[in-house]
Parts: sequence; structure tokens; C-alpha cells
Amino acid sequence: MKIIGTKTCDIAVVGGGVAGAAAALEAVRSGKKVILVEKTTQLGGLGTIGLINFFEPVDNARGVQIMKGMVDEFLRLCVRHGYDTIPEMWQNGDPGLDETKRRFQTGYSAAIFSLALCDLLADEGVEIMFDTVMTDADATDGHIDSITVFNKSGHSLIKANMFVDASGDADLLAMAGVPTVTGGNYDSYFAHGVTLESLQNAINEGNIGKRGASGFAGGCVGLYGTGHPEDMPLWDGTDGEDVSRYFIKNQRQLFNRIKDQDRMTRDITCLPIMPQFRTTRRIDGNYTLTTEDAYKHFEDSVGTVVDFNHRYFLYEMPYGVLVRNGFDNVIAAGRITSGSGYGWDILRVIPPAILSGHAAGAATAQAIDTEKAITDIDISVLQARLANEGVAIHFDEALAPEDRTLLEKFKLGH
Ligand SMILES: Cc1cc2nc3c(=O)[nH]c(=O)nc-3n(C[C@H](O)[C@H](O)[C@H](O)COP(=O)(O)OP(=O)(O)OC[C@H]3O[C@@H](n4cnc5c(N)ncnc54)[C@H](O)[C@@H]3O)c2cc1C
Repeated sequence: MKIIGTKTCDIAVVGGGVAGAAAALEAVRSGKKVILVEKTTQLGGLGTIGLINFFEPVDNARGVQIMKGMVDEFLRLCVRHGYDTIPEMWQNGDPGLDETKRRFQTGYSAAIFSLALCDLLADEGVEIMFDTVMTDADATDGHIDSITVFNKSGHSLIKANMFVDASGDADLLAMAGVPTVTGGNYDSYFAHGVTLESLQNAINEGNIGKRGASGFAGGCVGLYGTGHPEDMPLWDGTDGEDVSRYFIKNQRQLFNRIKDQDRMTRDITCLPIMPQFRTTRRIDGNYTLTTEDAYKHFEDSVGTVVDFNHRYFLYEMPYGVLVRNGFDNVIAAGRITSGSGYGWDILRVIPPAILSGHAAGAATAQAIDTEKAITDIDISVLQARLANEGVAIHFDEALAPEDRTLLEKFKLGH
């Protein structure tokens, strides 16, 4: 393979989803030279080009916002220039303890969030390499020397002191020999579109965010697999042929659903550019979060996470879910952090993905500054920095409910 050139930087981030964007931003704010490699032509990953334009809750379901720092910055950014669906009660700060209140969450314009992210990262000095895919890693004895990337110019190398894998699929970790675990994926494929009815609703409401869009689906399966065809194996997002089969099957299914409808009354405005897979591959980290960890305090916590799908649960994200001993200059961020069963779900949605990106960006900068392996940095220094930037490292016991038996009620998989 002909290598046409080599770039150098302090920190290379692979993948420009919300986690990679957060990691790159935090690293560049630490004064580091940062290159972000993104295989598509937009930032935001599943949260934009994957058409998942819903920011899961950041509150404790008891009237207090828990997740702040860069999570809050991205939450505000995703709605600043487009519509929002933030409940009225959250528009002016915490409404206070009231278990009946709606959660602090919102829909947003996927395209406008993607534009806003690009503007922010470029403005702050991140070197963004769009339309560039990472194809290989040169790693020896747990240390990555460089990655190979491919774009219109051909193959080139990026050498860095530290690497963040925010690829959503743990591509870099797998190529560098870090132990990983693979998941399986239900059949989800939905597109964005409009109908005359949805447009009329938006006009009536004077608000494009209020039912202005209409969903169009191929395979459409819920979070826990309801509706997944019995005879269909789970999709494997780490197998190239399976990914192609997923797109062909679902694009044809969607086409067959709509092709006989009245063509003048509806349009599909955007198809997902990446597979809508939740859990493809993740790091087998120093620690693996499970639902048993609800309400536990971790000494090495990098921030508090709320459960998006069940009220009241609070988790702390241990640093151990981001790293693996024996690998001194690579860290995981986003939906590839180490959790199992529903514990993986806890870590992978948009707010925790941003939190882990924030932590990964800060940790890589700290490792360089203190000349430490990424696994050996002083966690108390990292925690102090994240706390200073608004992250709730440990949750306040007063913010969790007294009744903690709910876990059994929900019978969540570990
Ligand atoms: C069906 C479905 C519904 C969901 N619903 C919600 C929801 O309602 N709310 C919510 O908060 N979360 C939801 N999620 C989860 C959430 O969208 C994702 O987990 C989160 O956005 C992941 O962010 P990330 O940055 O870790 O990864 P990704 O968004 O996957 O970003 C990874 C980026 O890396 C790039 N990349 C990948 N490989 C390479 C490579 N080799 N070289 C260069 N670039 C590469 C990709 O192009 C992508 O931009 C849902 C997910 C799915 C699949």
C-alpha cells in the first residue's frame, strides 16, 4: 500500500459522533493539537446522520438536572438554532422535586445540530478530516504508534501520543488488539419525511418541531426487541456483508411500504446514512457496568448518569469502563464503553456518550501533560477538572429515591 504522507498531532480521535466531538473539543480546549477522523461528511454520528434526533433525559425524574458539563453544552447547542421539545417546566432551570413532572429531554433538528457541531469544532481549532476512514492501526505491545486513514488523497498515516476510539464500533480498539465484546442488533430502520398532514399540523401550530416531521420505517423494532421477526438473526454491525444486507433488506422494505401510496402527499426527506445499530462492539474494559451498579458510588467515577428509560435510577460511570490495562495510549468513548446487558444501554445513549467523550478528551490531555499511561493517570485530578467543568462526579444521595428496590421490579438484564 502506498502511503502518501504522515500527519502528527497530540490526540487523534476516530469517529465524529457526539462522543468523538466531545472528546475532540475537550482535548483542543486543553491546548492540544487534535485531529478528528470522520468517515462520513457530517458530525454527530447516530445522533444526526443516523436520524436519532432525540436527546434522552439528563434529570433524575425528581425535578433536578443531573448531567451537566459538556452534556449540557451539547443539549443547548442541539436546539439553539433549530426547534426544541424541551418541556416548559425545564425552560428556566430545575423545577424542583415533583415526581409527576416530565423529564428534561428534547427532540432536535438532526441536520442543524450537525452544522452547529461542525461550526463549533472548526472554530475551536479541531482539525476535522471528513470523508476519511480509519483503516488500520500500527500497534505493538499495547501501544499505538499510528493509524492509517484513507480518503480521496489516498492512504496516509496519523501519528499521535494518544488515541480516542469514538467509532461507535470499536474499530480502532479491535485493530489495536484491545479485547472487545460484540453485541447484536434488532431490526431498526427508520427515515425522516413529511406528509401533507404533518405539514398542516406544523402550520397550525406555527412550529416545525411539533409534528412537522413524519416517520417512515423499514424494519421497526423497539428497544427490547418487540417486533423483531422470530426467524431473523440479530444484525452484526461488525460484519461488512451483514451491514450491506441490512441496508438492502430495509431500503427495499421501506420502498415497498411507500411506493403505492399517493405520491403527491408525502416525501421522504432523509434516509439514515449509517446503520441504526445500538450495540455492535465495545471495549472489554477494566470494569463492566451492569444494572446491579445502580446507586453505587465508584471511587474512579467520571460522572453521574441517569437511566433514560426508567425513572429514578442513578449510576456513576467508572473510569474503568473506558480503558483496559496493558494498553497505554488508547481510550474508548461513547457507545463502545464497557457495559453488559441493559448496563450497556445505560452507557450508550446520547448524554452518557457525550459524558464519556468529555472524560476521554480530558484524560488523554492529562496523560500527555503528566507523561503517564492512560490507565495510570491520577483520577482525582481528572475528577477535579471535570467537576470544575460542571460534571456531577458522584450523585448526591438526597437526589436518589429512598425506595431502591425498583431494580427488581423492572427485571432488567445485567
Ligand atoms: C435505533 C436507535 C435508537 C436510539 N434512540 C436514541 C434516543 O432516542 N436517544 C438517545 O439519546 N440515544 C438513542 N440511541 C443511541 C444513540 O444514538 C447512540 O448510542 C449515540 O449517538 C452514540 O454516539 P457515539 O458518538 O458513541 O457513536 P456514533 O454515533 O456511532 O458515532 C460514531 C462515528 O464514527 C464514525 N466512524 C465509524 N467508523 C469509523 C472509521 N473506521 N473511521 C472513521 N470514522 C468512523 C461514524 O461515521 C460515526 O460518525 C439510539 C440508537 C439506535 C441505534
